Amino acid sequence: MDLFDRCFEWKDWKVAQQFGYYPYFTPIESEAGAEVFIGGQRKIMLGSNNYMGLTNHPEVKEAAREAIAKYGAGCTGSRFLNGTLDIHVEFEEALAEWIGKESALVFSTGFMVNQGVLSSLVMKGDYIFSDRLNHASIVEGCRLAGGDTVRFKHGDMEDLEIQLQAVPEEAGKLIVADGVFSAEGSVADVTGIVELARKYNARVMIDEAHSLGAYGPEGRGVAADQGQSENVDLIMGTFSKSFGGVGGFIAGPLEVIMWIKHKSRPLIFSASLPPASVASARKALDLIRAGDDRREALWRNSNRAREGLQALGYDTGQSTSQIIPLRLGDDMACLKYWRTLYDAGVFTNAFIQPATPPGGALIRTSYMPTHTEEMLDEALELMGKVGKETGVLQ
Ligand code: PMP
Repeated sequence: MDLFDRCFEWKDWKVAQQFGYYPYFTPIESEAGAEVFIGGQRKIMLGSNNYMGLTNHPEVKEAAREAIAKYGAGCTGSRFLNGTLDIHVEFEEALAEWIGKESALVFSTGFMVNQGVLSSLVMKGDYIFSDRLNHASIVEGCRLAGGDTVRFKHGDMEDLEIQLQAVPEEAGKLIVADGVFSAEGSVADVTGIVELARKYNARVMIDEAHSLGAYGPEGRGVAADQGQSENVDLIMGTFSKSFGGVGGFIAGPLEVIMWIKHKSRPLIFSASLPPASVASARKALDLIRAGDDRREALWRNSNRAREGLQALGYDTGQSTSQIIPLRLGDDMACLKYWRTLYDAGVFTNAFIQPATPPGGALIRTSYMPTHTEEMLDEALELMGKVGKETGVLQ
């Protein structure tokens, strides 16, 4: 058999493109702000992770320009060898101080953080307890780890306790959960997780990808928001959302960070975060810390959208965050809705199988402080109209 046969025979993408329902890899021609331009058309952006509106902040852009002028385009090597700059080290110190941990380590992406931390820390005989809706990068980290993974029902502390009871008492244990879940927009019960971790002698890691900036004092995330920063052993974050750029980090006790520094293959065998990305994320950190006005605007906008969507009759599931899904159920209905709304001028994200379970298709919407009231009202009006037109709303 030719290895490529399966690719030549796989027609899903072609069919979707023929019907005009293909929602992926859409090239945007403008800055990734509250409005974007695609094919010369304006779209209200409800499909980004720019939760603090910083992607195009003038100081963030200037910081990147200055770093390129001083350090050049990249480091041409990994953090381990020739790829550590003084600005990586200073940024790590600032992150550790902000998040309230002894030490922090910057990776080139958030995906690599989860892969690299879980695979290097969890060894044969250990157990990872992973929320069923955790991000794909956590799932990948679990797959690569030497230990076993036990998945618990989403946000269900009773199920987590049952699973903790089922493994040998003396085994090493790590409970890992997203802080804010990336598609559903639900928030982890960090307090509940910490209580069970204490009872069963487990360590805790929270992925704050979607919560840094938005939640907690100075935007320190959901662990901080629930008063649990000290009790969460490892805090993971990315710079690809509220920080407006790319990259990621892990923060925790010095000895654990040193272990990861010397054992994590995605850190050691891949080139370091380039200077422009370090500098723009570093500037974003200052703006996030001082960003109470941005947080206020984010929550005002997210609450306005949630109330508006619910009033229109949409099922927004368990979302209490700035990520608000429209739970549509059927894959084809979801793609049709996505396309009609897109043509009407609103950019959203369509989640269908295999990213969702059968019957679990959803449109993911998310909000930023830089959306104006007029933009949100226009988007809501269009979502009302398109919902009726496509039969999604009665
Ligand atoms: N964790 C979560 C919860 C995420 O949603 C994502 C990205 N969508 C990541 C990790 C990976 O982050 P990055 O984009 O920085 O690779």
